[in-house]
Amino acid sequence: MFTVPRLSYSYDALLPYIDAQTMEIHITKHHQAYVDNLNKALSPYPELQKLSLEDLLTGIEALPGAIKTAVRNNAGGHYNHTLFWEMMKPSADMKQGLLIAEIQKKFGTYQAFKDQFETAAKTRFGSGWAWLVLNKAGDLEVFSTPNQDAPLMQGAVPLLGLDVWEHAYYLHYQNRRPDYITAWWNVVNWEFVEERYRSVIGK
Ligand code: MN
Repeated sequence: MFTVPRLSYSYDALLPYIDAQTMEIHITKHHQAYVDNLNKALSPYPELQKLSLEDLLTGIEALPGAIKTAVRNNAGGHYNHTLFWEMMKPSADMKQGLLIAEIQKKFGTYQAFKDQFETAAKTRFGSGWAWLVLNKAGDLEVFSTPNQDAPLMQGAVPLLGLDVWEHAYYLHYQNRRPDYITAWWNVVNWEFVEERYRSVIGK
């Protein structure tokens, strides 16, 4: 049985960038629903319940047709949100380290990376996510995914992700997705993202 992880900070810890009510509903209603629906989809398949979230997502095409869509949406939702909570912290830390150096190499400047990431987040039509990933070829790449599709489904390891579903920002920002995106940089947990990058590349 999958469960919603405990947050390491309080619902109001990301103020003024993300409000407490949005955080509480996002976790206790939205994330909880992905977990509940994933468990429900897997309940007739004891052998699949032994798989990790990563195995379910990378092996999505091999799943029984009856649950493929449910697992795609809800395992994706659980995986993406679990990462999302860890990718944020009350005050953004220094942008330095190995990953930032690689970002500068790949995108030219940190600002160029940021612009590309923000464009991906702003232009994702409807619901989805913007990502910085390490792609199949081992390169840093920015793209967005629709709905709850996880980068793992296309062989990419997510390093940093931003939820741009309306449920992530509507209470405070209403239709102003660009304002939410701009504000979000203030709560990025670069320390976590750097550690994640290092563990993926083995350094
Ligand atoms: Mn969400």
